[in-house]
This record gives sequence, C-alpha cells and structure tokens, in this order.
Amino acid sequence: MKVLTVVGARPQFIKAAMVSHEFQQRDDIEEILVHTGQHFDRNMSELFFEQMTIPRPRYNLGVSGGSHTVMTARMMLGLETVIQEESPDLVLLFGDTNSTLAAALTAVKMRIPIAHVEAGPRSRSLKNAEEANRVCTDHLGSVLFAATESGLRNLAEEGLGERAFLVGDLMYDAFLHYSDVVDSETFQPVLVSIDGNPIEIPPHYCYLTCHRSENTENLNALSEILLAASALPYPVIYPVHPRALDLARDVVSCCKLDSIVLAEPVGYLESIFLTKHAAHVITDSGGVQREAFFAKVPCTVPMTIFVWPEIMVDGRCVLVPPERGKIESVLNRTQRIDDDYLPFGDGRAAGRIVDVLSGCSEEVL
Ligand code: UDP
Repeated sequence: MKVLTVVGARPQFIKAAMVSHEFQQRDDIEEILVHTGQHFDRNMSELFFEQMTIPRPRYNLGVSGGSHTVMTARMMLGLETVIQEESPDLVLLFGDTNSTLAAALTAVKMRIPIAHVEAGPRSRSLKNAEEANRVCTDHLGSVLFAATESGLRNLAEEGLGERAFLVGDLMYDAFLHYSDVVDSETFQPVLVSIDGNPIEIPPHYCYLTCHRSENTENLNALSEILLAASALPYPVIYPVHPRALDLARDVVSCCKLDSIVLAEPVGYLESIFLTKHAAHVITDSGGVQREAFFAKVPCTVPMTIFVWPEIMVDGRCVLVPPERGKIESVLNRTQRIDDDYLPFGDGRAAGRIVDVLSGCSEEVL
C-alpha cells in the first residue's frame, strides 16, 4: 500500500515521526512524505526532522504565510499535483491545521481515501480557528483514529462511530519514547534568547508557551497572560512562536517584565525537558497541555475553550480566561495525582494505527 502523509506544522512532525518509525518496521506500506511548508523556520521544522529522525519529505510545497484562505488554496493546488504524480492508496493526516484541511479537501476531490489521526476533539466553537479544520477533516475521512474516549464519543455523536478506532495519543507515544533521551545525563538542552544569547535553565521556573490566535491577535490577552505569569516567584521561560514574537517583545519591554525570558522556539527534546522540570506550565498549546499532564506538572490554560476534557481533573490542568487576576488566582493551587488514571493510552498508538492501515479492506481503499 502506498500512503501519502501530509504534514506542515510543528505538532504534526512529532505525530508523523512516531508513525513513520512504525512504517519503517513493516514492509507492506510505502510512505511518501509531503511537507506543505506551513512552518518553515529551522526551529519550527528542520530541527524536528533532525531530532526525531523523520525521513526527508519527498515534496515541500513551500506554502506559508498569507490569509488562511490563500494558504489553504495554495496548498490544495500543490497537493493536487503531488497526488496526480504519486497516485497513493491513502492520504494520512494529523490534527487540525490548515495543512490538514487542505489535504483532506484535495484528497476527497480526487477520490483518495483519508485516514485522520487525532480525530474527534471538539471545542464546539467556530471562533476557534482549528475547529472547522478538525470537523471537516473528520467528516471527509474514511478511517478515524481517536486519541481518547471523549474523542471517540464525539465522533459517534456525529454519526462517524463506525469508521473510528480508539488508539491512544501519539503525543504520549512520543513523550514516553523521548523521555529516555531527555532524562539521560548526557542530554544538554539548547536554549537561545531572542537576541541570540545562550540561556541557562534556572532550578525553578515556569514554562510558558502562548501562540493561539485568540491570545495573540492583539495586545490585550497576551499582556494579561504575561503580567499574571510575571507575578510568579521564579523566572518564566517563554519560547516564542514566530506569530507572537513582535507582540511578546512589546509587552515585555513596555511593562518591564524582567522575569519573563523570551527565547527562540526550542526543539522537541528541549520542550519536553522544560516541561518535565518546570514548577508550573502555562500554555494555550494543545500539545504542551497534554505533555504537562504526562509529566505530572500543574498546567494553567489561559483560554475560554478546551478540547481535552480528560486533563481538566484534580487541579492538574485548569482552564481560565486570559485575564490577569483570574490567572493569578489559580497559579498557586495544589493538584492531586491519580497514578492509575491514564486516559491517553499506553504509548503504543502508532503500532495500532499502522495495524489498522495494513488491514484496510479494498472497500476502504
Ligand atoms: N514545542 C516545541 N518547541 C517549542 C514549543 C512547543 O517543540 O518551542 C512542542 C511541544 O512540546 C509540543 C508541540 O510542540 O509537543 C506543540 O505544538 P504547538 O504548540 O505548536 O501546537 P498545538 O499542540 O497547540 O497544536
């Protein structure tokens, strides 16, 4: 079987890495990797391919920037040519980015079946930029892989239960696998400030990531979040997504937030290291939220919507509107850890995904 995997953004490289490694163990599936170009900076793309030994993409469409519509349309044009050239049996997609939606629309128009990994999360708000991408892709998909029970339930409620498989979360696979690397004494995390200086990681710190459009479209939300974080009694390490860089720099310098350390985006291994050793995580990233949960580090999510209900338990992850006072009021809570509570599977999602794909009947293909 020939599988065309389409990736474009940081979290997709991580998920695709785990499935690609599994494909390499089997001889019944040939994988062709396509990078749309959505994330293109070295620290947002190349570094992940190196750290996670992801095979080089055969195609890079070089599509980045522009409005959501322009980006999606240009990706579709590029993908049509690739699909014509490769005639895959299946298109494999991850998550909820513009690259995911563009590939889903192109594949369905060209009558190529779609397998969608991380199907089922729902914010139930179309104001959330990713919601349309995930809902449309799930409804166009022939095989849907849910990471959690709640995702599976959402798919069933939308009449998609018969094509859905509960496999666990690839982010958990990756976290367990790469924890061995970052826990080893030889691992040296590399962190660089936005001014190009090396950053030494302090013994106590908060790891902060913030890039959702809801929080970075204007100064308001981001300044509330950074002001709240700066009230913590230890430094805050914030590797800044390129989308938020200008705004973050402005807020930190205008409000003189000396405890906030602005860094270049870090590699996956550094991100896992920072999460595991943090006193607290503040993030609007779906991936970092789950990683804080895996690492048993308390996490505060300054958002009004969420898609991973399973982590919002026992004070472990708390959703709070992006308002300074409200954020500050939850930062010093205690969490309760139930070691038997493992809602993201057992770290073997990739194997299950590839088993299902290998067994896909002629009917699906
Ligand atoms: N991440 C990273 N470097 C960073 C920030 C995040 O490697 O500077 C990792 C993080 O550990 C997680 C993934 O990127 O595995 C999450 O990606 P992102 O926050 O861009 O997307 P989301 O998960 O919100 O879709």
